[in-house]
Amino acid sequence: MTHPLRYLSVLTVLLSACASSPPSSETMVQARVARATQLAGDELKPLLGLCRPQPATRASGPSVDEGIRRLIAQAPPAPGQAFDNLYFVGSAWVSAWVLKTSQGLILIDALNNDEEAKTLIEGGMAKLGLDPRDIRYIVVTHGHGDHYGGASYLARRHGARIVASEEDWAMMAGTLEFASTVWPAPPQRDIAVRDGDKLVLGDTTLSYHLTPGHTLGTLSLVFDVRDGTRQHRALLWGGTAFNFGKDVPRLQAYHASTEKMRRVVVERNVDVMLSNHPGYDSTVAKLAELKRRAVGGAHPFVGGIGAVDRSLRIMGECSLAQRDRFGA
Ligand SMILES: [Zn+2]
Repeated sequence: MTHPLRYLSVLTVLLSACASSPPSSETMVQARVARATQLAGDELKPLLGLCRPQPATRASGPSVDEGIRRLIAQAPPAPGQAFDNLYFVGSAWVSAWVLKTSQGLILIDALNNDEEAKTLIEGGMAKLGLDPRDIRYIVVTHGHGDHYGGASYLARRHGARIVASEEDWAMMAGTLEFASTVWPAPPQRDIAVRDGDKLVLGDTTLSYHLTPGHTLGTLSLVFDVRDGTRQHRALLWGGTAFNFGKDVPRLQAYHASTEKMRRVVVERNVDVMLSNHPGYDSTVAKLAELKRRAVGGAHPFVGGIGAVDRSLRIMGECSLAQRDRFGA
């Protein structure tokens, strides 16, 4: 028979366990931010902006319009070639990438409006020796105006098809979750894709990965890039910022998307991380570095699988830090 004192000591342990309080939310947030900061080092610092506290409501109204106008007004960087088959024709704020295949071009994102589509995308392509009439597909990574703004114009002019996720087509056809008078109306629904679908054009296969978070239908893309005789594989993350306000399930989904893509990165040997905003992946600095590269030198866009994984972990930690802030 167990001595009653033994029950008492078990009870004491249980009570003291209950009395020691769990780590406070603020402590957890700080731990996540510290982990993200450590993972970032110098190289991935631009992603740490995600760990800064975000407002509980999505910004809207005239101040947002004004902010977007200011972002659009920034002097654009020169267009550039990142790989033998990948070109940057974006603005200072938003990226547009051209993937060249043996059967035409795939444009990834279409910037804010017709004007940018004309000057930066068509104009940039001309400077790089690419013909906009060869655009076959325009992939809209997510349903915000800075990515679809010039899509209708380019599709109409060059006979290209527009691709987006089922979820974001539905959002663009209904109530826009992020609207601004600065942006034109979204494109008419065209090709809708789901997680795991592939776009095959000539010698190139691009795979679509649904990574809900930034929008519910954000598409992240995986495709091969070439550097002379060397072949690499890129992940283009389709939507980065947490600008949707206090939405704990969505922050949770964002984290799940980063974890899902971490598995894809390992399975498919993804060694290049790209963004659709040049500020997150230092596109402009890397393009400049590429021009100065010595023969046989390291390619500035090729960070290796480890760096791609760290980028995803930073985004994941920051999404959970933000979740924990709202949960507090
Ligand atoms: Zn967006």
